[in-house]
Amino acid sequence: NTPHGTVLTLEDINVSFDGFKALNALTLYIGVGELRCIIGPNGAGKTTLMDVITGKTRPDSGTAFFGETLDLTQMNEVAIAKAGIGRKFQKPTVFEALSVFDNLELALKTDKSVWASLRSRLTGEQRSRIEEVLTTIKLENQRQRPAGLLSHGQKQFLEIGMLLVQEPQLLLLDEPVAGMTDAETEFTAELFKSLAGKHSLMVVEHDMSFVGAIADHVTVLHQGSVLAEGSLDEVQANDRVIEVYLGR
Ligand code: ADP
Repeated sequence: NTPHGTVLTLEDINVSFDGFKALNALTLYIGVGELRCIIGPNGAGKTTLMDVITGKTRPDSGTAFFGETLDLTQMNEVAIAKAGIGRKFQKPTVFEALSVFDNLELALKTDKSVWASLRSRLTGEQRSRIEEVLTTIKLENQRQRPAGLLSHGQKQFLEIGMLLVQEPQLLLLDEPVAGMTDAETEFTAELFKSLAGKHSLMVVEHDMSFVGAIADHVTVLHQGSVLAEGSLDEVQANDRVIEVYLGR
């Protein structure tokens, strides 16, 4: 099922908050280059799952590996980001007063302070990487525009671009199409499909038509565990999934 190996291995992960099990013996594998959607009702543990992968929450027990060798449970958030896991939260957080280009430039130079970063020169290679990402996110004609003047969808694309300049191996995206127009949602689907293969993507999403448009593989979370896995058609036909979603 994972011809190019596994980018993420989570086995028997447990996370409790005051005795409440947010993740309960969760086991999940993501293949290299895969585009995986994570769905599930509110409180299913989707955010906690992302928090464990990015080092924001340390699991009480379980195994979490990035690639073959990197033990995520022994790394902090900064080390995990540097190792190649990029996360996009639901709300865009771009520097509104800075241009599109400068936002990408800052993201590329995360090692430096904002001030030092804007004063240090870009190498030719860094400049071409930014240009490539500008084309990928279709903002090449907005490069000098202050990010605050972009539409909501364009801000989301810019933030995805800010992750892409860092060349992450695994991208985690939380409800990326919430609040987008139909055209922006369609472009997001195209974008994700074009990123898969080169990157691995894990997308938490409620919009089922979007999930259907992008994912070959869907994981349904419920009460902190994996309830079902398969194509969207397969999981939607699963009796336990129907019960959880429709309360039958
Ligand atoms: P989802 O993202 O699928 O809606 P979450 O991962 O946010 O689910 O939450 C799973 C459960 O864990 C929820 O019932 C939530 O209330 C609880 N939870 C999450 N984070 C905390 C926390 N920091 N403290 C206490 N309870 C939490």
